[in-house]
Formats: sequence, C-alpha cells, structure tokens
Amino acid sequence: MDNSASRISRGRLLLVEDDADLRQSLSDLLRDAGFEVAVAENGLVALTYLEDSPPPCLVLLDLMMPVMNGWEFREAQTRNHKLSDIPVVILTADGRAELKAESLGAAGYLRKPIEVARLLGMLAEYEC
Ligand SMILES: [Mg+2]
Repeated sequence: MDNSASRISRGRLLLVEDDADLRQSLSDLLRDAGFEVAVAENGLVALTYLEDSPPPCLVLLDLMMPVMNGWEFREAQTRNHKLSDIPVVILTADGRAELKAESLGAAGYLRKPIEVARLLGMLAEYEC
C-alpha cells in the first residue's frame, strides 16, 4: 500500500494564527489527520492567500493578531463576494467565545486550549 498517496484524503483548510507554536502544532495535527493545511500568521497574509487560491473548506481564525486581526479579516472577507461564503470558525481563549462568534457572523468557535476531538468533530460537520 502506498501510504504517501493516501495521506492527504481530506479537504484543505486555512489556519490563521499568529502564535508560531500553536500554528505548528495544530497544522501538524491536522496534516496527520489527513487534511491539507495552509497557514497564515495574520489576517492580511490570509486574505492574500485566499485571493490567489481555490477556496478552502474552512478557515480557522484566531482573533488577536498583529497587522490584521480577526475582526478586520472578517470585515474584509465579508465585503469580498468571492470570499464571503467561506465558513470561518474562530479560535479564542475568551469566555464569551459564542457571543464573539455570533457578532462576527462566524460559523462556529473553538475555545483555546483547543480540544483535538472537538476540532476534528467540527471539521467533520463542515465536510472537510
Ligand atoms: Mg493571537
């Protein structure tokens, strides 16, 4: 059996997170689970990526980031009709995560520290 060929079996995600350690550990974990993972360290890098790439099945979005934060990213994303339909799940340590997700028009939220089972369950929901 050719394991290298069967390794990428799921959808492509975009992970937007400024914390380099978290970005690395989450993307490793997701790649091990079979996803193709694009990463961006802030909202501006994410927007640039999205404008030049086929849409990912989901964006995992941190909120507090330098250069362009998660709120600013959402503002730009929802104004762009080519990008506005891509579902976004926010990543936040904030206790009011649900309210924040709602105010951002996000599809959902994951509270930091991220629980792997919840993350994978959410990805299954979005058919990634
Ligand atoms: Mg951050």
